[in-house]
Amino acid sequence: METTRKLIRKQSLEKLYNILSTTRKVYAPVIASDKQVEYKYNPAFTDVTFDHIRSTLSVKNVVFPKVENLFYYTNKQTESTITDIDLNKIQDVVLWGAHPCDNAAFDTLRSIFCWDITDEFFAKRLEKLVVIGFSCHLSDEYCFCTSVGLTPNSTKGSDILLSRLKNGDYHAEILTEKGNAIVSISPELFESVTNEEAEITSVKQKFNHEQVTAKLATAFENPFWVANSLRCIGCGACAYVCPTCACFDIQDEASGKEGKRYRSWDSCGFGLFTLHTSGHNPRNVQSQRWRQRIMHKFSYMPERNNSLGCVGCGRCSSGCPVDMNIAEQLEALQNI
Ligand code: SF4
Ligand code: SF4
Repeated sequence: METTRKLIRKQSLEKLYNILSTTRKVYAPVIASDKQVEYKYNPAFTDVTFDHIRSTLSVKNVVFPKVENLFYYTNKQTESTITDIDLNKIQDVVLWGAHPCDNAAFDTLRSIFCWDITDEFFAKRLEKLVVIGFSCHLSDEYCFCTSVGLTPNSTKGSDILLSRLKNGDYHAEILTEKGNAIVSISPELFESVTNEEAEITSVKQKFNHEQVTAKLATAFENPFWVANSLRCIGCGACAYVCPTCACFDIQDEASGKEGKRYRSWDSCGFGLFTLHTSGHNPRNVQSQRWRQRIMHKFSYMPERNNSLGCVGCGRCSSGCPVDMNIAEQLEALQNI
């Protein structure tokens, strides 16, 4: 679809938000009591933040929940009954205010969940999602979107992308049919575009991802991995905050003759992640797990999924308890 450009005034933005949040589920960022930025369903417009750099957790849970039931079962003597989850009950969600890196991550997740066999749970949630993204007018030392082929105003993954002007109004790029459907709810709120420039932050490029991918092809046995992962404590926080990490575990939870099977987020940084029942662990030490994380995102995914496994949001670095900084490590890797 050809992109349409419109102007939406500050007051109209509030009207649009209020219309959307009174008629459907809107997932928007707020500043929580501990000053962390988190997303909530249908907060009041006055509580929504427009000046955050990144939320603590990404927004991937709208398409890949932290814990998701897959089916229920009942056992009766020799018979078992399985009840599927009714995916038609998954509701429409409008994601409001997520930044371009997080929105681009939906494409990355699609390249994983719909790679060979389509994951119906993920696909249905993505189908039901409308993304109203906001360009970044703020950034910090952890951001590196420009090193992974994105920019602070990339449109990838957004249905509408809003960019703030100096006077508080917004330019709107309407990018998809889902975006058009939002505009058609209140077309009078979208006016003719002006020449005013949007406030977009600049993010320094820290490494060249193609050079990193090329370097990784021969780096598997390099001492770099041990030297650069000695302080990693394997807490898994980097995977939990990451918008593109998609590993999950599957468990059964039963009581008497009834139970359910569910999946929940997992992390390749955990020692138990690859532990076999025999006791053998093919990734026995933390350096092998750290190598896997980087290899998967920057070597295996470009090869298998035609997609990088990182959008440069900087969450893993800003959230790591021992200051492992992925961008610094990738920059160093490029030069080994
Ligand atoms: S957050 Fe840091 S310490 Fe924890 S697993 Fe990731 S790199 Fe290691
Ligand atoms: S690997 Fe780190 S910087 Fe890259 S997308 Fe995940 S959390 Fe963001």
